[in-house]
Amino acid sequence: MTICKYCGKEQLSEFCNSTCRAKYDNFINKENKIKKGFFVAIIISIILSIVAFIYSGNLGIFVLAASVGVSFIIFPLATPQTVCSFGVKKSILTVRICGVICIFVGLIIALL
Ligand SMILES: [Zn+2]
Repeated sequence: MTICKYCGKEQLSEFCNSTCRAKYDNFINKENKIKKGFFVAIIISIILSIVAFIYSGNLGIFVLAASVGVSFIIFPLATPQTVCSFGVKKSILTVRICGVICIFVGLIIALL
């Protein structure tokens, strides 16, 4: 048994069907763009949070957490290990959930 490289379902071949294969190929093609976009977004996040820190420490923490969270949601950069064990679809979902958690944690810290 192996897992579908896209959706992570267990089966005998690399992919369930041609749809999963096409979606996987699409993800691989976009991967470099996602990586570049993610790093640019992180740099912007750091600059924004430094500016916010000048106004207020709490605001700085919130802006940092929120912008990193948003970066993860827009550019779901999953590690190759995660993709291998869970498939592309679940990896992207996991990264996006982490992004949302990041935003909430930042909000809670900023409000405390
Ligand atoms: Zn599949």
